Amino acid sequence: MKKETNKKNRVKSFILLLFIIMIVISFFVYQKNKLDKAKQQEAKRLEVLKKIEYINNTYSLFIEGQKIDKDDNLANFFNNNVDTHNKLSNLSIDELNIKHLQNIDKTINGLKERKKEINKIIYEKIDEHLKEYTKEEITAINKIYNNSIIIIEKEDNLKIKNNVLKQIDDRLSFLTFLKENQGNYYLNGSMIMGKNNEFVTKAKGYKTKFVIGNEFDYGKKIPILTYHAVDDTTWGDSGLFVKISDFEEQMKYLHDNDYTTLFISEITNALNYTNPVIITFDDGYMNIYTKAFPIMQKYNIKSTFYIITEWMDGYIFVSPEIVKIMDKSGLVEIGSHSLSHMKLGVNSFDSQEKEIKKSKDDLEQILDKKINSFAYPYGSYNIDTINLLKEHYSNAVTVESGFNFSKTLSLYKLRRQKISRGESINSFIFKIGG
Ligand SMILES: [Zn+2]
Repeated sequence: MKKETNKKNRVKSFILLLFIIMIVISFFVYQKNKLDKAKQQEAKRLEVLKKIEYINNTYSLFIEGQKIDKDDNLANFFNNNVDTHNKLSNLSIDELNIKHLQNIDKTINGLKERKKEINKIIYEKIDEHLKEYTKEEITAINKIYNNSIIIIEKEDNLKIKNNVLKQIDDRLSFLTFLKENQGNYYLNGSMIMGKNNEFVTKAKGYKTKFVIGNEFDYGKKIPILTYHAVDDTTWGDSGLFVKISDFEEQMKYLHDNDYTTLFISEITNALNYTNPVIITFDDGYMNIYTKAFPIMQKYNIKSTFYIITEWMDGYIFVSPEIVKIMDKSGLVEIGSHSLSHMKLGVNSFDSQEKEIKKSKDDLEQILDKKINSFAYPYGSYNIDTINLLKEHYSNAVTVESGFNFSKTLSLYKLRRQKISRGESINSFIFKIGG
């Protein structure tokens, strides 16, 4: 019995010992694992720090509009956004002008293409690119990301994009309306003149910069033509020289088709004439006297001749004597085109006053009669010019194209249609309102 008890005790002791050994071993294994884990964590921490340092060093020099010379996901993201940003910053919509309305189908197709291109512009979301980064790295990236103007402007850029798309849509619907209403309107300078009230009312409902008018509201159409030189041989800007035979064809057309040519100073009375047309010549070229004047005498055509008084050399430009002869003919009104052909709108009040007043005085002295009309050199004027003109003249002609209308005459901003070399007779007929 005792023997058995001893044996049992030994077994118990052995198990206990084994148990203690296992605990000790477990403790050491546990300690070792703990150490390894700490080492791993430290290694990872160092790796993250290194990555953050890399991100900071690589991207902290990130400059708006410039690409980063790296090839990793983040760099690619930034670089793509630089492209997108530049595209959006340059996004604007060109002025729709009368030329675009002359070929509506082409304009509509162009706008649709533009819309497609703009729709392709997409800002990438940064989140997609951050999946592989740790929390600390994302914080570092966000610091740069948020300081980037590209990203800050994101909202504004998208606004620009949507704005341009909206403008294109407005134009498309207006152009589609015009396309469906061809025959109900005609173009005049920057104005769209409706031939009936229904068209005008509908057209005014669209967003457009064009002035929509009703031809019946404006009274009589009064075209003013601008010529410079009339000669077969040219020098300088050849477009200014209308061929003699073309000029004769044009004058003959006016004569044969019941047009009434008027002096510029008769414009306020133009509504009393059938098909009034006002012919003007700028700059005072000698060939107007030698080549155009005989033709105008032949067809009994009246015109207004704008002289630059300091340029009257009797060689390239007319002399004071010729100005006198033309004035006495009863077919020519003389007007001023300034003293020295200065761009008035960009000059001081005093020099403008001299150009406007002295040239008038010069001509009045030559002709011993009042000079009433002025042509703006280069079509340039500002508020001072207009005020000076109102003080010294009764009217002034611009280089803005389009017709004038008897009920809405703007006497110091009269529109003119320019006749150039090579102008077809059909184009001429259009410009005299035919
Ligand atoms: Zn001129």
